[in-house]
Amino acid sequence: MTTTVMPASSVKTTCPYCGVGCGVNLTIPDSVNQGVPPVSGDMDHPANFGRLCVKGSSLAQTIKSDDRLLAPMLNGQVVSWESAIETVSSKISQVVKDHGPDAFAFYLSGQILTEDYYVANKLAKGFIGTANVDTNSRLCMASAVVGYKRAFGSDTVPCNYEDLERCDLLIMVGSNAAWTHPILYQRIAAAKKQRPDMKVVVIDPRETATCDIADLHLAIKPGSDAAIFSFLLSDSVQADIVDHDFIVKHTNGFETALVQARASTPNLSYTADFCGIGEQDLVRLVGWWRDTAKTITFYSQGVNQSSSGVDKCNAIINCHLATGRIGKEGAGPFSITGQPNAMGGREVGGLANQLAAHMDFATPGAQDLVQRFWQAPNMATENGLKAVDLFQAIEEGKVKVVWIMSTNPMVSLPDTAQVRRALEKCELVIVSDCKAHTDTTAMADVLFPATGWSEKDGTVTNSERRISRQRGLLPAPGEAKHDWWAICEVAKKMGFQSAFSYQSIHEIFAEHAALSAFENNGKRDFDIGHFSQITKAEYDALTPVQWPVPKGRPEGTQRMFENGRFFTPDGRARFVAITPSLPKHQASLEWPFTLNTGRVRDQWHTMTRTGDAASLAKHTAQPYVEIHPQDARQLGIKDKALVRLTSLYGEVLLKAKLSRAVAPSQVFVPIHWTQQFANAAVVSNLIPQVVDPLSGQPESKHAQVRLEAVENICYGMIVSATPLSLADCLYWCRIPSEQGFHYEVVWPKGQTQASLKAMGAGQSKVTAAVKKTEWLEYSNPITQQIRVARLVDQTLTLLMYLHPQPESLMADWLISQLTINTALSVSDRLAILVGIPANVEEKGEIVCSCYQVGSKQIKKAIATGICSVEALGDTLKCGTNCGSCLPELKRFIPVVAELSA
Ligand code: SF4
Repeated sequence: MTTTVMPASSVKTTCPYCGVGCGVNLTIPDSVNQGVPPVSGDMDHPANFGRLCVKGSSLAQTIKSDDRLLAPMLNGQVVSWESAIETVSSKISQVVKDHGPDAFAFYLSGQILTEDYYVANKLAKGFIGTANVDTNSRLCMASAVVGYKRAFGSDTVPCNYEDLERCDLLIMVGSNAAWTHPILYQRIAAAKKQRPDMKVVVIDPRETATCDIADLHLAIKPGSDAAIFSFLLSDSVQADIVDHDFIVKHTNGFETALVQARASTPNLSYTADFCGIGEQDLVRLVGWWRDTAKTITFYSQGVNQSSSGVDKCNAIINCHLATGRIGKEGAGPFSITGQPNAMGGREVGGLANQLAAHMDFATPGAQDLVQRFWQAPNMATENGLKAVDLFQAIEEGKVKVVWIMSTNPMVSLPDTAQVRRALEKCELVIVSDCKAHTDTTAMADVLFPATGWSEKDGTVTNSERRISRQRGLLPAPGEAKHDWWAICEVAKKMGFQSAFSYQSIHEIFAEHAALSAFENNGKRDFDIGHFSQITKAEYDALTPVQWPVPKGRPEGTQRMFENGRFFTPDGRARFVAITPSLPKHQASLEWPFTLNTGRVRDQWHTMTRTGDAASLAKHTAQPYVEIHPQDARQLGIKDKALVRLTSLYGEVLLKAKLSRAVAPSQVFVPIHWTQQFANAAVVSNLIPQVVDPLSGQPESKHAQVRLEAVENICYGMIVSATPLSLADCLYWCRIPSEQGFHYEVVWPKGQTQASLKAMGAGQSKVTAAVKKTEWLEYSNPITQQIRVARLVDQTLTLLMYLHPQPESLMADWLISQLTINTALSVSDRLAILVGIPANVEEKGEIVCSCYQVGSKQIKKAIATGICSVEALGDTLKCGTNCGSCLPELKRFIPVVAELSA
């Protein structure tokens, strides 16, 4: 491959968001001080070939944050690194001495780099002597890991991204890739456009944006996926499409798995009923499965986040083994990781039930091998605590010091009330983060300022086993340091100098590579021994490569299992007999609605980075609950009205979004909003701590809830030049904005002009005292609208709107008025009270984030006769940059055509 030469002030790095792992060019125009460096897709990177989705395209907006953590903090006070490291190392040493090694734990993240992971794992498992090293990847793909290991004897993803373009049948299970893995989705969509005969099936309880390219959508009963694959296994025998030769030569356990599949899904009609789908739809899938050798099953959190996630993975893998659809171009079971470096964490052993370098505690000889390699004085000898168990052990006082790195368990773990109790009780909570204010940094005793994406240096591995460099270009701000550096400093202070005295990050990578090859000889799948002597210059020049990369094979490995040899003791893959089961909690009279959770298009995880990009907030500004119109009608819930969702574990307040994308009796809530952005929208509050018994992965996509409309309230919007405290609001949501502060609020009924003014005046007494303050007021007793605006020295500083119903106001235009320094004209004064200026086009809800094109503009263009997505792009530019909005644009065309018919 020829590589594009970059200017000296540019680097090729990797996107820090999803598991697609797109290559990014990061460039500083002239000097660091000349503003935010631009980003573009790396044409040379095999994951994206130059494309970026809307999140990746907006990375430049997230680089300079006002909320960086710039210095170590101890109990809220700035301290030196030396002092913070002394505090942490002496406390860990003390609790280990007094209570044993398991009184300490790391809780890491798929956001950190492989080298960070490696030294954390080495310190805990080899030197402190505990396997309490778990990670937020537990919430993402732990079930996929166990599924692969049960079947292949190793955590090996067999396929690559090209296989997705070359298959003839793609079954996407529990994945809204259009929003969660957009560039991969776009590659699939392009392949399907080129080869319209390629079939795409989406298996998902919701009708998601991914269904846009689906030939068939099976809207299954939540959690029933495994039954489809159980039936496909038995039908494959019935239809005689099994690969007898492959089964005989390369597998074990076929007969037992088949017997159980036949017993649990005896026929098509039983299976369709179990899954809540039409028999004809299942017949179509079965027909395509029978006829299509080049089939990929692509699965993600919808499969993994389940109390039977591992069984679901094995139900899928069983079908591929039975038909020999594995280790071949365009065929295989393909688990897609959510996070940018979930795979890298797995490589080093950064899960509590792994040891190191794809070895487990149960792997014969592995502990001894790793101990000798590390020269480790205190090897852990058994599995540690998985995420949910870990936080329970913290609450029970068994784990007394926890070091949380680049993750937000106060938002992402189920039953956040329990997580809060645990962290309140913990003797020392250390949090490493680049952000000062998150729901989890608020719980920390010690805060370590970490480098962020544009400063970090190391490697990450994407969903197709491709190792890429993440390269820093900007200097670390303040006293921020790399995570690996902080871990090594603590380790050295604890007395482990020689094992953690790395001079440069490439030395860590080289050691990681050497361990992967140590006494391997082809026995273990993960071998990157080719890099075990890597120099700094070679590391800096490293180009993306798929592991294994053993000595003598520098080009890496595109596809696994092509020779039919697996990593079990006898080299044969294992069928696993499974019985499909439904989620643990089912609907009842008290909890009649089934909650599903997931992501929105333009946000990532808990918004610690994407929340800094104002343009990304335009597509979905507020947290919401998607409700079927039929349910909403019965409960008296109107679109955009405030709804209370309650489960046995907590409650949230969200705006209603009426939609037929969810089935009746089901609701959907996004996972992103934290208490930094909304006062009561953390959906994990509702989720029970139910986990898969084998993987420990929580059933985060499932809870039973009830809903009710919140009454006796009034809806408001506030734009302000300064941040506000909104303690009096029943609901507030802060919407990121470039120019000021934008809040959507709900108050209890009874607010008046006077109370709004008093609230506004109370927020900025000092300013008001020294400058000339003027209030503009409007109220309508019939519509019950109240509006007040405060001008200071004739410049707008605060606007507050109140109405019994949610209103459509032009928030962007109103916020822009905050920055106008000249005195407002009479017509502008009127316009800000009305909320909609006469001479500015109303865009509607933003659909295309790149060019800020809204729904009203799109409908207007279609009404003029435009009838294709391409023509919309020619006219409005929407969809012509990253392409993330293309599925939504497509949907506008029939909708508007129908409306005008
Ligand atoms: Fe980043 Fe988007 Fe690529 Fe994912 S698809 S790695 S979020 S640019």
